[in-house]
Amino acid sequence: SVEMRKVNKYYGKFQALKDIDLSILPGKVTCLIGPSGSGKSTLLRCINFLEEYDSGEVRIDGQLIGYDAPNKKMSGRRLREMRRSIGMVFQQFNLWPHMTAKENVAEGLIRVRRMSKADADRRASEALAKVGLADKIASHPSRLSGGQQQRVAIARAIAMEPKLMLFDEPTSALDPELVGEVLSVMRTLAGEGMTMVVVTHEMGFAAHVADQVGFMEKGELVGVDSPDRILHRPEDARIQSFLRTYH
Ligand code: ATP
Ligand code: MG
Repeated sequence: SVEMRKVNKYYGKFQALKDIDLSILPGKVTCLIGPSGSGKSTLLRCINFLEEYDSGEVRIDGQLIGYDAPNKKMSGRRLREMRRSIGMVFQQFNLWPHMTAKENVAEGLIRVRRMSKADADRRASEALAKVGLADKIASHPSRLSGGQQQRVAIARAIAMEPKLMLFDEPTSALDPELVGEVLSVMRTLAGEGMTMVVVTHEMGFAAHVADQVGFMEKGELVGVDSPDRILHRPEDARIQSFLRTYH
């Protein structure tokens, strides 16, 4: 599980996160929605301490991430250890252009997990098959569509066997006709019980796949509730007004 308690984050004097309280339950999908600049990416990146929060607590399975104690940062080594159980997929796929799909997935297994090349290759092939790319293992990114590249990025993350996956607008850089194949892979992962936090503008995905939806505005988590209560009958005027721009 992930527990965020009273998390605050500043960029200089600007407060990007305000007293965030959020519980992410194991095996569940949490979607985060909200206007541009509301702090969705910042919140997501605090979970794996890619962004340092200034106060409050973020706990992964009970363990504080980023700090050993308030104001005492944990060692880089310890942080890397904790991050190993957290996969992340970004809007931009960040694949290595000179490597094949399989090499892109196997690289982390060899370098971070110290797997043998043979084991890493096997695991990489399995992960690529899972995202529907069994026939593309030898292709370089430049020969793949955006949707296929993003699926390689997802394969790269799941090959590390994370207990938690963070997605930051994984389909926002894709042509509309390629969005579905990526969402479908994510839906499969969710169905297998992966714990997921997904920042997205795909309201259909949030409505059908999320167990809970959080709405952010101006650094505040305005509401977290069932998809139905947030997306179909929100009480908060800020959520209503945001959703109107989607209809
Ligand atoms: P989008 O939907 O556009 O991705 P977001 O909800 O993910 O937006 P964030 O990227 O979390 O928003 O940014 C929240 C606020 O913090 C914004 O006002 C942004 O300008 C500011 N911000 C983000 N990163 C930095 C930074 N490195 N330095 C200063 N301000 C930042
Ligand atoms: Mg963002």
